[in-house]
Amino acid sequence: MRRHKLTLVLAVVLAVLTFTAAVAPVYASTLNQKQQKKQKIEQDIKQQQGNLKQQRSRKSELESEMNQLDHRLQELQSELARINREIAATERKIARVEAELAEAEAALAEKETLFKRRLRNIYERGYVSYLDVLLGASSFSDFLTRFNNLKIIADNDQRLVDEVRAERDRVEAMKEELEQEKSRLDGMRRQILNNEAELERTVASRNQVKEELQEEITRSEEAIRKMKLKEEKLEKEIQALIRRSASNRGAGGGGGGGGAVVRGSGRFCWPCQGGRITSGYGNRVHPKTGIYPDFHRGIDISPADTIFAADSGKVIWAQWKGSYGNCIIIDHGNGFTTLYAHLSAIYVGLGQSVSRGQHIGIAGSTGGTSTGVHLHFEVRVNGEPTNPMSYL
Ligand SMILES: [Zn+2]
Repeated sequence: MRRHKLTLVLAVVLAVLTFTAAVAPVYASTLNQKQQKKQKIEQDIKQQQGNLKQQRSRKSELESEMNQLDHRLQELQSELARINREIAATERKIARVEAELAEAEAALAEKETLFKRRLRNIYERGYVSYLDVLLGASSFSDFLTRFNNLKIIADNDQRLVDEVRAERDRVEAMKEELEQEKSRLDGMRRQILNNEAELERTVASRNQVKEELQEEITRSEEAIRKMKLKEEKLEKEIQALIRRSASNRGAGGGGGGGGAVVRGSGRFCWPCQGGRITSGYGNRVHPKTGIYPDFHRGIDISPADTIFAADSGKVIWAQWKGSYGNCIIIDHGNGFTTLYAHLSAIYVGLGQSVSRGQHIGIAGSTGGTSTGVHLHFEVRVNGEPTNPMSYL
């Protein structure tokens, strides 16, 4: 009976061991795969966000260029309106001058006709009178007096004709000047219309580029949205895997259930592979803002790559944490917690138990640090930051 019972127990233990041995690596590799996949998606999102930023800045550059083009177009249009007004005014002046010219020409024609008639009369009469004088005039001086009077009238007429002709020439010159002015304005108008057409072509081509950019932006936004959904889904799967593993281990351990208390030794090992302290605990000049004092809650270690749990404990934070970037916090169950910040990869999940020296992540520069890849390491006693150097 006893033997039988022992065999049964052994069989159960063996079965559990076999199960654990078979499941644990599968679990680890699945979790690893999912975490790597999530990391890859995070990188893709970051890259796509970079693209989006460039696309948006190109679009805003284009928009300011288009604003300038629009402004220039408006200037051209108001210049065109001004030229059109000048052309209209010049055309009105030309019409007035043409009327004046017609008047002047009519006056000239009238004066010339009058003058010619009078001239004919004078010569006809003058000739007759001359003959009179020659053939039987009372006296030669009598003839001369008559002839001179007629000559004075003729000279007067000639002066009048000359004056009218000068007036006509002046009006004609004015007309010519106005026509030259009008053709100059017409030339300007053609030039403006050409410029305007060219500008409109440029605006149209810029508009097309802008539309294409907007399509690119929409595509980028859509891609980021999809990747974020995928990332969220993966994160849920990862957390589920971790919870399952924690409860499996709790059951396998045979005591304490899922919330097994993990207690650290109180002595911490160096939290990463190699490196030295590049920024100590306490007041310092902030590496990014240059402000002093900036209270540094931990120590910075660089160069850093592989991150180790400084002591055994339970993971109480394993995700993004504001300016800490990707961050892990381990509760060592004895009042101590340790914090590992700016990580590029997290290999543990919330609620997971870790042992001292366990590989928990990879150092990085997430969370907007300006000092490059390093590990920011904090030791907290009952939640209060303390100098890690007292425990390392
Ligand atoms: Zn730091």
